[in-house]
This record gives sequence, structure tokens and C-alpha cells, in this order.
Amino acid sequence: MGLLRNRFFLEKAYNYIIQGAGASGLWLAYSLYKEGLLNDGSLLIVERDALKRNDRTWCFWGDGLAGELPFTDFSWEQVQVFGTSQSIAPYTYHHCRSEAFYDFVKMALDSSQNIDWVCGEVISVAQVGGQVDVNICEAGAVEQTFVADWFFGSGFDPKAGAEIDLWQSFVGWRVKSDLGKPFFDPCACTLMDFGIEQKGKTRFLYVLPFSETEALIEVTQFDKETLTLAEGEQMLKEICAQRGWDVSVLDLEFNAIPMSVKFDRSMRFDASDSRVVPLGVAAGALKPTTGYGFLRMMQHGKAIAQALKQKSRIPTMYRLGRFRFYDDLLLRILQKHPYRGKQIFDQLFHHKKASMVLRFLNEETNILQEIMIFMWLPKRLFLRTLFAKWVRG
Ligand SMILES: Cc1cc2nc3c(=O)[nH]c(=O)nc-3n(C[C@H](O)[C@H](O)[C@H](O)COP(=O)(O)OP(=O)(O)OC[C@H]3O[C@@H](n4cnc5c(N)ncnc54)[C@H](O)[C@@H]3O)c2cc1C
Repeated sequence: MGLLRNRFFLEKAYNYIIQGAGASGLWLAYSLYKEGLLNDGSLLIVERDALKRNDRTWCFWGDGLAGELPFTDFSWEQVQVFGTSQSIAPYTYHHCRSEAFYDFVKMALDSSQNIDWVCGEVISVAQVGGQVDVNICEAGAVEQTFVADWFFGSGFDPKAGAEIDLWQSFVGWRVKSDLGKPFFDPCACTLMDFGIEQKGKTRFLYVLPFSETEALIEVTQFDKETLTLAEGEQMLKEICAQRGWDVSVLDLEFNAIPMSVKFDRSMRFDASDSRVVPLGVAAGALKPTTGYGFLRMMQHGKAIAQALKQKSRIPTMYRLGRFRFYDDLLLRILQKHPYRGKQIFDQLFHHKKASMVLRFLNEETNILQEIMIFMWLPKRLFLRTLFAKWVRG
């Protein structure tokens, strides 16, 4: 099933218009459908990329999510830390291919008569009183104006003028053992293995084993510069050689995610009277220090649909101030001393259970737990950075 069915616009006025058929846009559409808002309400989904297919894989961890997100294809309840398996209960780490997610949502939405899809670009959006005027240009066609009660906009180009503190770049190979030799333990994935060459940056390896002979291995780098494909593939070659993994490459993933606390602040909207609502990365979904955002987008989409149903205030991607502060501090450290990342994360995983680290990264810890975590981090480095932040702002 193709992602987009090009249809003529049937209506000029919709209850909802969603810009972008990516993670957050499709999930919101699915949530509107699940809440019954599309039984009578109408929706237009506008996506500019006609060829959108399996453009990424998403991983995330959560507690008791499995039933809600049936498009995931692999899950792990244990992680490898310094060569030993550890349970991450109550969490499970999930993996899904974007294609499976797109197909799942599209299949569910297929039964609704009240959804129109268009392959085109949203050119401009303006709220006029209680409604929104949306200018859309279909490929090769003239611009048309549509009217909606609500407009939800995903899609964010970090290169378009935003300040980036760091880039999280990754180059991943989906590999298969050449002679069917078992190299991987499918019961446990490896999330942050810093036992790879750092070259003055913060670099680590992910290993997501799908079976004893097949895995996604991915090098990740935090740095001001992005990792090139050639560099990343060279690193993967060296890692495979060092670990004796004789493998063939089945698939490649190569991309970079911007890391900045500024996105969070610049993307707020006034939830009290705005009918133009940002979604996904554009709403500040990405956690600046990890680049994870998928789960928050799912939660946000669901919460928006519930708020619309209850006619209550549309929720923002609210994050507690102290977590924004921790992210800011860590990003400053990684920006100024990129080579310290390994020490920080190694100490963290050495002294704290992986489940607690994941809880912290999901922003679900309490202050006492956070104090216990910070106790094990390089205190002088954090205090110096804190002091510099106060002095220089
Ligand atoms: C390669 C990669 C891997 C990632 N992996 C993970 C992960 O494992 N876990 C995790 O939590 N997060 C991950 N992320 C971060 C984040 O979850 C993803 O970027 C996610 O896809 C963001 O969802 P989104 O809806 O904001 O944007 P997208 O999924 O990019 O969707 C936005 C859509 O809007 C369309 N669009 C934009 N502007 C317009 C316009 N003007 N008119 C019409 N259409 C428009 C775009 O074509 C696009 O299809 C990853 C990011 C990348 C880039």
C-alpha cells in the first residue's frame, strides 16, 4: 500500500488539517480516529513527499506499551551493560520500522470515509478568528486555500536558521552472519557501548539483535560536526573485525538528529487560543540529550485527541524545568569537552542499574533519585559548567 493516495480535494473546509504524514502526523490522525472524532468530523492530511516509505527505524522504551503499539517488530527486556545482561523491568525496549508504522496507521484509517489525503506542500497557515486558512500547493498545480477548525503542523527543518548545539549522527548496518555463525544474543540489546574508539568525541555503539545471526549495529556520535557516511562505515568495519563478526550488510541507515535545548523554548505555542498547533519535532518532542522523541509524540497525539473530544485545552509538550536544566548542563559539557561523554555515561551505567538510567532519560525519576544519580557523575566538571552557565548565561 502506497503511503499517499492522491485524491482530488473533495471539500474546501475540514475540521482538522494535518501537515505531514510522518510519525506525529499519522499518529495524531490515528488518535482522532480512535477517539471517534472522525465519525462526523473531517480530516485532510497533506504530505509533500510522495515516495515516503521505510525512511527510518524507531526505538523507544516504555512500561506496558506492547498492546498499544502493535506495529513494533522486536522488543527486549534485557540490555547488555559492560558485557553482562541486565533486566530493564518495568521497561521494555521496542523497535519498529517506519514502514510498518505507516502501513498500520493507513490500514486503520482506510475504513474512515471522512479522511482526504493529498500529496502537496503546505505553503502558509494563518489563524483568522476561530478558524485557520491553509494554503496548499499540489505538485504542478496552483495554490489553493483551505479552511480548518484546527491545523496541526509537523515537519521541522533544523538547518533553517535554528541554532544547533550538537549533532547526534548515526550510521547503522543491518547485518547477517555470513556462515550462519551465532554472534548475537537476541535476549539482550546493547544501548550505549562506549568501548569503541572515541577520537576526541562522544561515540558509542548500539547492537539490536533480531536473532543469533542478525542484528542492527549502529555507531552514534555526539559532536558539533556530523559524522560522514564513509567515517561511520569505516568505524563499523573496524568494530566487526575487532569483534570477529563475519557479516554481510543487508541494509543501511545514515542520518543526524539535532540536539539543542533551544528547540524546546522556541516551539511553544499559546495553547489558550491558538488553533495552529505544532506536532512532533516541531513541537519540541526530541529530548535534547538523547534524540529520542517517538514515545512523547505518541503520548502527545493521544492527549491532543482526548482534549479535542473533551473540548479542553490542547496540551503542549510540557517538560519539567529541572529536566531541561539537566539537558542544558550535559549538552554544554559535551559541546565543550566532547571526549568526557564516555566517562560520564560509563560512570552512570557502572553505578546505576540500566532501568534507573532509562527512567532518568524518560524524565520519570524523582528528585531524590536524581541526586543519587548525580552523586556518581564527575562533580567538579558539572559544578564548573554550572558556574560558567551562571556567569555567561
Ligand atoms: C533517521 C532517524 C531515526 C530516528 N530514530 C529515532 C528513534 O529510534 N527513537 C526516537 O524516539 N526518535 C527517533 N528519531 C527522532 C524522531 O522520532 C523522528 O525524527 C520522527 O520521525 C519525528 O517525527 P515528526 O512527525 O516530527 O517528523 P517526520 O516523521 O519527519 O514527519 C514530518 C513529515 O512532514 C512532512 N512535511 C514537512 N513540511 C511539510 C509541508 N510544508 N507540507 C507538507 N508536508 C510537510 C515531511 O515530508 C514529513 O513526512 C529519529 C530521527 C531520524 C531522522
